[in-house]
Amino acid sequence: MRSGGEIEPERAALRMEHVDLFVQIDPEKRFIRGIAQLTLSTRIEQKRLLIDLDKNYEVSEISIDGTVLKAGSWRNPDGQLVIDLPKPVAVGGKVVAHITYAGRPHEAVNAPWDDGIVWSSWQGKPWIATTAQGYGCDLFWPCLDFPAGEIPTIRVSILASSDVMAIANGKLVGISNTRGPGSAVWTWEAKNINPYLVAINIGPYREIKGTYDSQYGNKVPLHLWHLTGKEKQAAGLFAEFAPTLDFFESVIGPFPFADEKLGVVETPHLGMEHQTVNAYGNDYRKDETGFDWLFQHELAHEWFGNQMTAANWDDFWLHEGYGQYMQPLYGQWREGEARYAAMMAHQRKFVLNGKPLVSGKVRASEDVYQAERGGPGQDIYYKGAWVLHTLRYLIGDKPFFDATRRLVYGRPDPKPGNFKPRFTSTAEFETLMNAAAGRDLSWFFDAYLREAALPELIETRTDGKLTLSWRTPKGVPFPLPIEIAVNGETRRLAMAGGSETISLPSGAHVVIDPMARILRRSAAIEAMQKK
Ligand SMILES: [Zn+2]
Repeated sequence: MRSGGEIEPERAALRMEHVDLFVQIDPEKRFIRGIAQLTLSTRIEQKRLLIDLDKNYEVSEISIDGTVLKAGSWRNPDGQLVIDLPKPVAVGGKVVAHITYAGRPHEAVNAPWDDGIVWSSWQGKPWIATTAQGYGCDLFWPCLDFPAGEIPTIRVSILASSDVMAIANGKLVGISNTRGPGSAVWTWEAKNINPYLVAINIGPYREIKGTYDSQYGNKVPLHLWHLTGKEKQAAGLFAEFAPTLDFFESVIGPFPFADEKLGVVETPHLGMEHQTVNAYGNDYRKDETGFDWLFQHELAHEWFGNQMTAANWDDFWLHEGYGQYMQPLYGQWREGEARYAAMMAHQRKFVLNGKPLVSGKVRASEDVYQAERGGPGQDIYYKGAWVLHTLRYLIGDKPFFDATRRLVYGRPDPKPGNFKPRFTSTAEFETLMNAAAGRDLSWFFDAYLREAALPELIETRTDGKLTLSWRTPKGVPFPLPIEIAVNGETRRLAMAGGSETISLPSGAHVVIDPMARILRRSAAIEAMQKK
């Protein structure tokens, strides 16, 4: 159930070059049979292979470079398959492992907040989904269960009954029925995919298809697989695809996976950012914003999480903070300042400040996601979004979005074909923001990312004077400018050195930060959260 974190040098030296995975999913027995052919390269000599695979599975056969291994050459006592190699693989060498396995996969109890397979049904037919963000890819197949285990090319073939569809990442290569009547094999191919994003979806789906003409001159294939009987609601969701892409392409940059697809599949759990096959389980609910936040959030991860991936889960907030910030930003794009402010105010209520967003250590996914395990928990969403909101106010739109674009694409001028998925870190985020702003903002990042408690603004008003001072946990200077309205007139105080004093007309009415641009301690929210 561990994904990412510190890993052994042997495993870290492996690279997954190609995966060819065949899976048969039996909903009646709640059972998976799989054959995985893994092509691995190594940066150090390997005498054995360490591969992640959930111990729920029995491995019946392994061959290495075509030679079947003797029984006893592998073991898996606790979710790590150890394979003794017939001969060492040299530095820079490659090895092909062919692994046949079967078993009852771990079932999710509360997906997507925990992981595993979700067995469900719709109109008497199986409806099945997988999620693996927290516990990792090894719940379903032998893999390298850490972000750097990203796979350049993967082929996934799913054997299912012929009355359902089997949908996965990337492009559909073909559907064959060579396995006999009543069944079909759906084969998909995807590129540059993080292992936790590999997803299998089975159900009695109908498909809505279309094409998006990108402002970058290319075309994006659009696919929505929805349950039978949900045609009308699904058509409403599909109608959101193009305007949502207009927003992302205008504000961030090109859709990263246009040579595969923008895919959405209806799932029996709320959602997950599975690359090119976003899981959608929000039941087509719309709120007062007029768009489906869940669809918008998961699609945001195609840029923030899938194109740009945190190499260490400690930087998970870059996925979820940006992912969460995209909904108010889309609200602003559609309807203006009032919608944006209302959506930000809503998110502010959920900022908890229990632990810092970033620990500076190599961490496993769940150690960040779960507050009970000492992580920042849901702050990676709401506090992350508010940190971005405050930073954007501080440095301005152009520097903020220029740096964001470089973070996502690794270059300032992304166009289809000139970028590939990339890894990033909080350190790179800070470097890019500093460069775009033209100054060192360490004081800002130290306070918001590396301290749990929020900066507090202290107000003192005496003898016609108002003094505002920032108080931070370690008492370091915090020169964050702030707007105030005096008798209805707004001005910006520079707060150089972290404090500023101004004269006030007698009896003046003062409102601090009238547009709520700044993330700071709020006694009102703390009192509300205690109830
Ligand atoms: Zn998310």
